[in-house]
This record gives sequence, structure tokens and C-alpha cells, in this order.
Amino acid sequence: MPIISSESVQERYDLVIAGTGFGSLFFLHGYLERFPQHRVLLLEWGSYRDQAWQLKHRRNGDRDAEGMYVRQPGQKPWAFTIGFGGGTNCWWAVTPRLAPNDFQLKSRYGVGEDWPITYEELEPYYLAAERVMLVSGPEELARRYPRSGPFPQPPHNLSTADKRMQAASPDHHFAIPTARLRVPVGQRAACCNSMVCNLCPTGAKFSGLNTFGGLVADDRVDLLTNARVRAVEKQAGHATGLRYDHAGRQAVARAPLVAVGCNAIHTPFILMRSGLEHPVLGRYLHEKSVAQFEVLLDGIDHFDGGIPTTACNTSWVDGEHRREAGAAMVYFINHYNLYGLRTEWGRWRQTLPVEAFVEDIPQASNRVIDDGGDLPVVEHATRTRYNRKGMQRVAELLPELLSPLPVERIVPRPELPTGYHIQGTCRMGREPDASIVDADLRHHQVRNLLVLGTAVWPSCGTANPSLTAAALSLRAADRLGS
Ligand SMILES: Cc1cc2nc3c(=O)[nH]c(=O)nc-3n(C[C@H](O)[C@H](O)[C@H](O)COP(=O)(O)OP(=O)(O)OC[C@H]3O[C@@H](n4cnc5c(N)ncnc54)[C@H](O)[C@@H]3O)c2cc1C
Repeated sequence: MPIISSESVQERYDLVIAGTGFGSLFFLHGYLERFPQHRVLLLEWGSYRDQAWQLKHRRNGDRDAEGMYVRQPGQKPWAFTIGFGGGTNCWWAVTPRLAPNDFQLKSRYGVGEDWPITYEELEPYYLAAERVMLVSGPEELARRYPRSGPFPQPPHNLSTADKRMQAASPDHHFAIPTARLRVPVGQRAACCNSMVCNLCPTGAKFSGLNTFGGLVADDRVDLLTNARVRAVEKQAGHATGLRYDHAGRQAVARAPLVAVGCNAIHTPFILMRSGLEHPVLGRYLHEKSVAQFEVLLDGIDHFDGGIPTTACNTSWVDGEHRREAGAAMVYFINHYNLYGLRTEWGRWRQTLPVEAFVEDIPQASNRVIDDGGDLPVVEHATRTRYNRKGMQRVAELLPELLSPLPVERIVPRPELPTGYHIQGTCRMGREPDASIVDADLRHHQVRNLLVLGTAVWPSCGTANPSLTAAALSLRAADRLGS
């Protein structure tokens, strides 16, 4: 295991990073490509649990997210992994890009916020992140999300229902882009479609362990685990390092460049403890809501696709409706552990689970608070009317969307308690008064401090966020010194 002891921490590094999830590891990768002689320290709160440990214990880390933040009574839960690799362990590897207009929500539709960068500016880094993760996907997706290069891997097989949907709606129904291998590469086998994606028994899924394990073991990188970062150290307006707890002692790791990528709940808490108070710090916490449906089919057997989620339907991802109601990405699910099989004789597989990820508008009142205790307190009391209208719109229009299929009945199922995507507490923007970091992920006031990961989202979109977090980190590394 590439872990150092606290005694081996050097006096000084070129870069010190808090956290080892998507934002951090992709920044590390991009940084060492630009500065191959530099030395980096990674400080990780959790342990290093390899794939064998995760499979044996059937979990991604030692601790449950629920004990690592304070949730207000009756409010929604949040899901994340603490440990080496962060969310790269537990994620299900669905990797859509944000849609071009997601970056210009306010100027196009008069709601929410614009991002300080465009889709076109991020596009080369999307491609680079897809190449690192070996994303599989269909070239036709470029009709909705323009691409400058092909997907590294071919798409996985669609189900029969997907093929019918695609024939009727070729511009909107696509095989899902996913960081699960279709074709084996090295030690990583193809996806086994066994529905335990958080543990991925074949290594088909991109994870920090299977892709960046070698980089982290490199002589240029030191990894200290069980090191909880508490604050950014500063002097005369510059970050000088990170203060952390390890084995009951506090220490400081020093570097001229400092990055915090500790998920969108813990990153703002660290910044608050660093005396970086700002009117929007910790605010605008948000995630998509997830509407669920069981579609009872008449005469088509389902669950014959290649992977647990086979397709995405982009019909409602963008358009004028976004002036009034949240956009939605619809996923076609290919596994039966949501609602089981049907009980009627011979019709067991005539059921199709469908999920819609519906956009919300980030609200200042939904936030992470530092109440002086050991853990961040999360307040998320409400969703917007905009989001509720988006959910209603999905329910109303779903029969029409599914009209290419022989549908017997659509059974609405309860909304998921969480969409698994924590976003927005250190939002990026052009205005230092209204945002925490700029388009290069650099803190507006402390210019040698970067914030990595999904904390920087200024608006929600409908896409699963990790590919975008990876692309933003690659771009941030590329932009250093610009
Ligand atoms: C069950 C599940 C399924 C998901 N599926 C998908 C999917 O299919 N597609 C998708 O795009 N996204 C998915 N996600 C979301 C994805 O995991 C997150 O979007 C992503 O991990 C966010 O990246 P990040 O870098 O912001 O944070 P993380 O990846 O969570 O990394 C944060 C890191 O910081 C560490 N850390 C936290 N606090 C401290 C501290 N104080 N000191 C030191 N280290 C600290 C953590 O241990 C971790 O290593 C899923 C999430 C869950 C829970």
C-alpha cells in the first residue's frame, strides 16, 4: 500500500491536497503531467481500502456517511464515501457530460446562474477525462453533446425496449455513456452486469484504486491516510499549507500550492474553519431530485441489456420549458432489484424501471453550517417550485415519451431520498462578491488555494457530476500559471 507514516511527511511539498476523490485525483494527474518533477502530499481522512477489502466487507470504507455530518431532523440524507478514492469507489460510473446550455442557464432561460466557463472551453478536458476513465459510449451522443474525439470504448448493448425507443427517437435515446469497460483493458475485465456496481467485482468500473493507484505509489507522491484536514493555513493572504489531525496529534503540511477536494459538505466546513468567511460560502447546497417509475410492459421482455443502466433519454434535458420547470434526464434501468420481477405467469420480465433526474435551482437557504461542533451541519429544508414543476412535468409527459413501447401501465414509485450528487457550496463564478472560486477553481481572494470537486457547481443541470468534476480539475491543472 502506498501509504506513508506521519514521521515521513516532508518539511515542504510543491502541492498539498486534501481528499482523494474525483476532484483531487484528476487534479493530481493533470498537475504531475504539467510539473513532472514536483512532489505532492495527499491528506486523506479515511483509510486505504483496496478492492479485495471492499469485496470481503461488502462496503466501500470503514465509516458510514451518516455519522460524518449532522443532518437536521426530518431532512433528506446525503451520500458519500470517506476513504482513499472517495466517490470513485461507491459510484455507479454513469458519465454524461453537462449539456451546453447548462453552462448558460441564466442568460438562456433567465433562471439560476451561468457558469464562468462554456461547454466549448471544457470540451477538450471532458474528452481527456473520458480517456483516463476509458468511458464507453455511442458516437451519436455528439448530436446533443458536441465532441472533438471518439469515446475510448464502444457502447454497451441496449435492451429490446431501448432499441424500440431509439428507433422512434434517434436524436434523444442513446446508449448510456459509462466508465465501465465494454472491452477488457489490462487487469480490468468487461462489465459483468451483476448489479453490485459500488463493489465492481471485475474492476470494469473506473476507480481511483484501479487507475490512479500507480500514480499515488509513485515516488513523487506521498499519501497520508487517517489524516483529517481541519483548515487551510494562511499568511499575508496566501495559503501556506493544510492543518490536519493524525493519530491524535495536529500537524501542518506546507506547500506553495494548496487544494481542497473534500466533497461539497466537508470542503466548505474546512474553508469556514480557515477564516475564509464569505456571504455565499456553504450556501446553495443542492442536488437533483429523482422521480421513479415502474413501467409495466405488454409483450416485451426486459432486462436483456448489457449493463445495469442501459440508456439515457435526453428529450427534456434542454429547451424552453427550463424557464418554468426543471430539466430532466431519463434513465432506462436494466436491473430488477428495484421493484423485482412481475408475478403473473410468463410475464416476469415485462417490467421496465425508469428514473428521471430532475434539475433544481440552488437556494441560498440550503447550506452547510459551522456551529462550532466537530462536524458540518447540513440544512436542506426545501426544494424549489421550479424543481417540483419539473417533477410534475415528468410524470405528466412520461406516457407520451414512452409511446414507442407497448405500455400496460406506469406505476409511480416513491421519489428517491437522495440523488447521490452533492453540489454547490463553494460555487464558481466571475464575481468575487457572489462566488468562492473562479473558472480555474482558484479562490477569488487566496489565489494559491484551489477548490476541487462538485462543491463548485453554480447550477444543477441534469447530468451525474463526476465526469465534469474530473474535467474541471484537469483544466484547472492546465491553467496553473495562466
Ligand atoms: C452510491 C453512489 C453512486 C453514485 N453514482 C454516480 C454516478 O454513476 N455518476 C456520477 O457522476 N456520480 C455518481 N455519484 C456521485 C459521486 O460519487 C460524486 O459526485 C463525486 O464523488 C464527487 O467528487 P468530489 O471530488 O467532490 O468528492 P469525493 O469523491 O467524495 O471525494 C472527497 C474526498 O475527500 C475526503 N475527505 C472528506 N473530508 C476530508 C477531510 N476533512 N480531510 C481529508 N480528507 C477528507 C474523502 O474521504 C474523499 O476522499 C454517486 C455517489 C454515490 C454515493
